[in-house]
Amino acid sequence: MHKNFKNIEKVVYGRGSFDTMDGILEPVRKENDNFFLFIVDNYFKGKELEGRLPVKAGDVVRFIDVDPHEPTTELIDSLRDEILASNGLPSGIVGIGGGSIMDIAKAASLMFTNEGSSTLYQGLNLIKKPGIYHLGVPTISGTGAEVSMTAVLTGPEKKLGLKCDWTVFNQVILDPDLIASVPIDKWFYTGMDTYIHCVESENGMLNNAFSHAYAEQALKLCQDIYLGEDAGHTPENDDKLMVASLMGGLSLTYSEVGVCHALSYGLSKILGEKHCYANCVAFQHLEDYYPVGLIEFREMIRKHNIELPQGLSKNWTEEQITAMANVAYNLPHMWNHAVGPDWKDVITIDTIKALYRRM
Ligand code: NAD
Ligand code: ZN
Repeated sequence: MHKNFKNIEKVVYGRGSFDTMDGILEPVRKENDNFFLFIVDNYFKGKELEGRLPVKAGDVVRFIDVDPHEPTTELIDSLRDEILASNGLPSGIVGIGGGSIMDIAKAASLMFTNEGSSTLYQGLNLIKKPGIYHLGVPTISGTGAEVSMTAVLTGPEKKLGLKCDWTVFNQVILDPDLIASVPIDKWFYTGMDTYIHCVESENGMLNNAFSHAYAEQALKLCQDIYLGEDAGHTPENDDKLMVASLMGGLSLTYSEVGVCHALSYGLSKILGEKHCYANCVAFQHLEDYYPVGLIEFREMIRKHNIELPQGLSKNWTEEQITAMANVAYNLPHMWNHAVGPDWKDVITIDTIKALYRRM
């Protein structure tokens, strides 16, 4: 099986690269109704960065609070309908924030040109037409959403991405200055998403020289950032984390994630836990699958005084555990990669329930 994946068209990297955005947008401004839509994490409202947005007359700026819940289909549909009615079709969209904002920008780009509700397009290659130009600027690093070909949305029925070649950003700006303000706990959980992407990508059937090259380098960067002599949330390490996040994303694109992400999806879907935090909650109990990665992960937790909750499952009902196990079981591509083509001989709903009971 050969994967034929689309990569980001253009990437600019380095401190201060945020300010190249004006020049990057200039030629695109002639498209459609000649205005840009900026979607910005609410954290930046009133902060210095707001004053640096290259906003021109006619542009629309929306600040979105991503903390109450992960991006929904409803949010995307109403944003699209409202902007089309009041301003027309944008030349393009800029998303400035973490995985949540980047997914909103990616999804909105597609929904400006595809009719009906975004719920119709949750899945692989269901989108009918290319979206409008979209540019992503990560302000917290780790999920790899800046490079992935999916925009994860929670709908009334499912949490599933709009996944196709057109989802991928036309342009990404990686400016490590922007992640300096991320608080330590979020810096840790989100960075660990990269670490876990790499461990899972490496430990499975689909690992290959291409995915391995990215994972090996991203793991080395994570080891420097979280365990090295100069470990910590420093400017030098922020430079590295932005690159690690991108490379971790590329590694799993050419390989696959595994057991931790399957369990994490269950925690997010049934209990509403955030992706990166849910990964950490699950990963700490996966010594049977990722023994080497787990030793290192525990060292990182100790070094940065992170406290992960224990004994959570005592408060979960049998129904909740069964529902989470069903979500995880229904991700066959992850089990196939992690355990092998005969995974169903080894992994049952009961095996997965036992893993949740460890948490
Ligand atoms: P996020 O976007 O949810 O933001 C997490 C928190 O960090 C928020 O409180 C936000 O306000 C804050 N924040 C962001 N930048 C900051 C900064 N510079 N300073 C201070 N605070 C800042 O975080 P995330 O973990 O990057 O994204 C999670 C989302 O990404 C989930 O919705 C998940 O479904 C999605 N996701 C997508 C992919 C993909 O490939 N598309 C992959 C993994 C996860
Ligand atoms: Zn992840």
